[in-house]
Amino acid sequence: MPYTVDVALAAPLWRALSYAVPIELVNLVKPLTRLLVPLRGGQSLGFALGKPVVGDASGLKNILDILDEVESAQACPGELLNFYQRAASYYQTPLGQVLAWSLPAGLGTARPKGGKIPKSEIEFHISARQGMAKNLPRVGTQADRFLRILQKDGPKPLAELRKTFTQAGALAKRLEAAGWVEIHQKPLVRDLLGNPVSHEPPPEQLNPDQTAAINQIHTVMDSTEFKALLMFGVTGSGKTEVYLAACERALHKKRQALILVPEIGLCLRLEGLIKSRMGAERVAVLHSGLTPAARRGQWMAIARGEVDVVVGARSAVFAPLKNLGVICVDEEQDEAYKQEDRFRYNGRDLALLRGQEQSCPVVMGTATPSVTTWHRAQRGDYELITLPRRVKGAALPKMSLVDLRASGKFKAGFLSSQLYEALKKTVAQGNQAILFLNRRGFAPALLCPSCGKTIGCPCCSLSLTLHKSGGRLNCHTCGYTRPLPPKCPNCGAKGEELKPLGLGTEAVVERLAELEPGWRIARLDRDTAGDAAGLREILGRIAHHEVDVIVGTQMITKGHHFPRISLVGVLLADQALAVPDFRAAERTYVLITQVAGRAGRGSSSGLVMVQTYDPDHHAVRAALAHDPEAFYTEDLAERRFLGYPPFMRLVSLRLESAREQAAQSAAAHLARHLKLAQQHLGVKGQVMGPAPAPVIRVQSRFRYLILLKSPSAATAGKVLRLARHNAGDLPGNVRLRVDVDPLTIN
Ligand code: ADP
Ligand code: ZN
Repeated sequence: MPYTVDVALAAPLWRALSYAVPIELVNLVKPLTRLLVPLRGGQSLGFALGKPVVGDASGLKNILDILDEVESAQACPGELLNFYQRAASYYQTPLGQVLAWSLPAGLGTARPKGGKIPKSEIEFHISARQGMAKNLPRVGTQADRFLRILQKDGPKPLAELRKTFTQAGALAKRLEAAGWVEIHQKPLVRDLLGNPVSHEPPPEQLNPDQTAAINQIHTVMDSTEFKALLMFGVTGSGKTEVYLAACERALHKKRQALILVPEIGLCLRLEGLIKSRMGAERVAVLHSGLTPAARRGQWMAIARGEVDVVVGARSAVFAPLKNLGVICVDEEQDEAYKQEDRFRYNGRDLALLRGQEQSCPVVMGTATPSVTTWHRAQRGDYELITLPRRVKGAALPKMSLVDLRASGKFKAGFLSSQLYEALKKTVAQGNQAILFLNRRGFAPALLCPSCGKTIGCPCCSLSLTLHKSGGRLNCHTCGYTRPLPPKCPNCGAKGEELKPLGLGTEAVVERLAELEPGWRIARLDRDTAGDAAGLREILGRIAHHEVDVIVGTQMITKGHHFPRISLVGVLLADQALAVPDFRAAERTYVLITQVAGRAGRGSSSGLVMVQTYDPDHHAVRAALAHDPEAFYTEDLAERRFLGYPPFMRLVSLRLESAREQAAQSAAAHLARHLKLAQQHLGVKGQVMGPAPAPVIRVQSRFRYLILLKSPSAATAGKVLRLARHNAGDLPGNVRLRVDVDPLTIN
């Protein structure tokens, strides 16, 4: 009897295709089993949408192979089928592509590549035996020295002894046999970059706010139902301990925990904490700092059920855990949760969806909720937990405003006299300061004074950013890079005359070093800390107080805990406000509050100086007053008036083509069908545009935008599906990018 199965292909296909299943494979195919199937003369990865069923297989092709190691585990557990289906539908992306793109490299392609799983490492600790045998090794021998060191210093890891004794392993074995030492095996507590993890000890006592928060979460967890909670806790209120307690509770109940963090730096810290508290054995991490093989290894260990706690960046929301007891989302507002290419999802929102599908609570923690999350908590959709105080009675930093319109001359071109004085005082007292400027490179443009033009990217309608240390001009949008030109490419004027315009972190460091040669200055941005190793190195230097002043982009605003930082200077608070975007105010409020949150976390109190040309802006005012209520109330009123989220759902549609005319007319055509679809379905809403994108040309393609506003996600989906169907296929030279719940409209 022939068997068939429906398969979602890792291809831009909206429908599943049916395949015949050879009889010997029938029992091996389950929901979401990865399959190799023939497609248009080639082969493709696909995912079974159920178990094979008896049916008419005439005309169907056979599946070729099964790619999962069946006896152990599937890379995508069948339990997640519903979750994946809802995610695909919500984000208007074909299911097979969603599945393939959610997997680590090597698992999401048609090539059957297993990926070796690293064995959990063992660490040997050697200790001298108490009250031991009488005949000690002969004085002066290696064995004698070995033993004396252990007696003097106490137990030591073998790795450390190897530095002194080349044959440390053999020596230890011999001494063990003679009854002089003991060898203990311990799982090696390392993070996956190979560094031993830091042992941040637990606080002696949780404070009453933390205890109350934990109780609230435990109560919800006991009901084993989905519920979303917003843990609104000021910076430094000890939210991490609350996540840890939630994880412990999940483990206690024989369930699993998933912690999402927005970026690697925070991943490293949490990984260390969890491994040292709960043991390294059953913890996995998933982030882009891992090699592809390590990532596959972690993934498959989770799939085989060897892991209870997963810490990871946004893509960890797909981790193949089958028995989730809690999901924690740290810094839920963070834009890093948004995946901006291929499958454009928001990790925070998918965490909520996953919580619903797997009946487990989702705890979102932050000092600065997104405006939408705040609104939902106010409305009662999310249960609110508050941590209104910093731990150990530390005060929130003192905020002070520097009105740049009235501040006369700047030191080094960017420091008001107030901020300069505060910096000097901080360094003199042996404390550390942060200077925050959200722009990397030396200068965002290089201007030719004779023709008056800046040097632009050949592929984008943007200026190139000067990176002085590398002697290059880079496009921050498409990655184009070129050496500094000997002369102006526009008019041929001499290169020496080209003038940097504006200010980036690299210039701040250079000028500050000229101003104060004695200061130890570090730069923390994507150029200096682009990979996990660079980031770790700089964070380590800050932690060990090898740095006085840290100049950084938003990378420094996130979650770090450095007790010696007592001053934070925001060089230009209005920078984000200048962007034409409905979230500009939110971004500004969050950035100021978060970077301010790095100050005064230790014993000395913190001071934050905010330089701005726009001191009356509601985001700036509220951040300075530590008044979230004021910010959210005003911003929500504005968004309600203008019809933006959370009051309307947005979908941005971007049409791109190398030919401007083609992009423009395809956009007009689609916009018309969107309007017709709204009318036909009788739904409220609005179609805005098409309009040229803020940066109209990127990577040699012209961009036109349409913004679809809908009262709900469901109506947005219906309108889009109908309009895309009726509009028919796009011309071959036009590409459409659909972004559901866009964070930036570009
Ligand atoms: P948040 O994430 O809320 O900004 P963290 O969780 O990073 O704050 O905690 C800040 C610091 O306070 C950490 O070093 C942490 O170990 C410490 N801490 C947390 N809870 C307590 C407590 N109850 N007593 C003393 N120190 C604590
Ligand atoms: Zn470019």
